[in-house]
Amino acid sequence: MNDVRVRFAPSPTGFFHIGSARTALFNWLYAKHRGGKFILRIEDTDDERDRKEFLDVLIHGLRWLGLDWDEGPDVGGEYGPYFQSQRSDVYQKYIEILKNKGFAYEKDGALYFKVSHRPQVIHDLIRGDVAREEEKDFVIVRTNGKPVFHLVNVVDDISMRITHIIRGEDHLSNTSKHIELFNAFGEKPPLFAHIPLILKSQGSGKMSKRDTGALIEDYEKNHFIAAAVRNYLCLLGWSPKEDREILPLDEIIRLFDIGDVNKNNARFDEKKMSFFNSEYLRSLPFDDFHSRALVVLKNSPIAVDKFDARYVRDVLAICQEKLRSFVELPNFIEYFFVEKITHDREALAKLQSKFDIQTRLREFKLAFESLDTVDETSVENLVHELATKHGVNTGEYIHSVRLAVSGRTVGPSLFGLLRVLGKEVVLERLNAFASQS
Ligand code: GLU
Repeated sequence: MNDVRVRFAPSPTGFFHIGSARTALFNWLYAKHRGGKFILRIEDTDDERDRKEFLDVLIHGLRWLGLDWDEGPDVGGEYGPYFQSQRSDVYQKYIEILKNKGFAYEKDGALYFKVSHRPQVIHDLIRGDVAREEEKDFVIVRTNGKPVFHLVNVVDDISMRITHIIRGEDHLSNTSKHIELFNAFGEKPPLFAHIPLILKSQGSGKMSKRDTGALIEDYEKNHFIAAAVRNYLCLLGWSPKEDREILPLDEIIRLFDIGDVNKNNARFDEKKMSFFNSEYLRSLPFDDFHSRALVVLKNSPIAVDKFDARYVRDVLAICQEKLRSFVELPNFIEYFFVEKITHDREALAKLQSKFDIQTRLREFKLAFESLDTVDETSVENLVHELATKHGVNTGEYIHSVRLAVSGRTVGPSLFGLLRVLGKEVVLERLNAFASQS
């Protein structure tokens, strides 16, 4: 039997951060790539640091990222329980085996494991073979009777029939101990893959929980698109060897192989993550974009419920292409939902220094008033005609009108914006602007 079985084995002692998420993701991808099983095992053996809240955030975060597990909490499986806190009898059984085989001895109230004093070769799919020798016997059961991490981790990997251990490089120093234990139990060690660290965006340090962008829950709170976050995380240590980096999940699954993960540390790049998010946002099917946007707006100062649903839909339709993130959405569309807008004075002064805004607006208003239908084409034609007639650039009209009716210099295409605002509101705003300045 050589079906792939991999596991993600977090300890719920802190919030779910991108380092852990990437470990889970690489395990998950490898399982999918090989048609194997992905197991979630909770290593909750630290009574002082484990917290239910951390566990909940972790489970929620995995689900948010779409990393479903074949065996583990909530779903069960034939090798459970999947919480180490519920597996004491399994550990007891294995401790007896070590004692009976003469691999364990008591000293000062603790149980020690007797090392072999031979170099242990770690077959690492990323780093190649690494040989290390354990020099000192080590504790496997503490004086308080609790088995230590090394023991329970190995016992579970054996009893859950794990074939590949994919985990952070920080565990490399534990692996020779673990191999000693596998050998002592008469088990062939699984294959290992120690994945590189994630460095913070600047400097040489490892990314910590306190760095911006480190916590998975923050991405959800800031309305990131989970698929974008997942796509970005794939590239922290792996690359599809193509010039495309934004790839659909099924393609990533097809291309991903754990042996292709880079040995060198990966560097977190907040800007790139945001760029991925904006690309995903732009390519969402509109109905999906629309329903996500409504969720974001429900929790914002914009009372979309008070507006006609078709109007809201129209506003969103013209904005999708230009919006970079959902967190910016309320501010991005605010002027569509207020009576009185405020104008960006600085931008206004800048435009005024380049051309005569008031004249352009007067000319525009006059022509605009006589339009029968306000749609993209009619407004665009009108702007072109005006520009030709007065011998100026179309930009003079576009920038002036945008500023007068939206208060700012960036937003969706002006022609769509005018159509959605409607003739009446546009004229009202042009008049208000003229009398104000
Ligand atoms: N509970 C360990 C951790 O969170 C798991 C190590 C492993 O994957 O073997 O670091």
